[in-house]
Amino acid sequence: MRGRMDPNCIFCKIVSGQLPSKKLYEDDDLIVFNDIHPKAPIHLLVVPKEHIESLITAGPQHQALAGKMLLLAPRLAREQGATDGFRVVINNGPGGGQEVFHLHMHVVAGPRPWKGF
Ligand code: AMP
Ligand code: ZN
Repeated sequence: MRGRMDPNCIFCKIVSGQLPSKKLYEDDDLIVFNDIHPKAPIHLLVVPKEHIESLITAGPQHQALAGKMLLLAPRLAREQGATDGFRVVINNGPGGGQEVFHLHMHVVAGPRPWKGF
């Protein structure tokens, strides 16, 4: 179910369809799309529809959602062609390198070199 949204947030705008994205998966709780500046051959973002800034502001009410995000990763990586594993990264807060303040999980895979991570 969709909860909070922030009209100034780019990921909320993608969730609502105001901004385009290369959408790979969607359900009631999550949307998954390609990162606009991929750092590896496969680079997806798993994004809750609810506007949660980061894990810093997430709470116990988000436990099932967080588990769903993690457990979706292997399926998405496989569907996008990852054959030998993948990496998940969640940046939290400025000190964690977060640039978009709407919780998201990077799923990164594919042949090296990668440009980060
Ligand atoms: P982070 O540093 O974890 O906040 O990462 C934000 C990520 O969002 C970066 O990898 C950006 O390339 C990506 N990004 C920013 N704007 C968009 C967009 N409109 N569509 C897809 N990915 C985006
Ligand atoms: Zn948002």
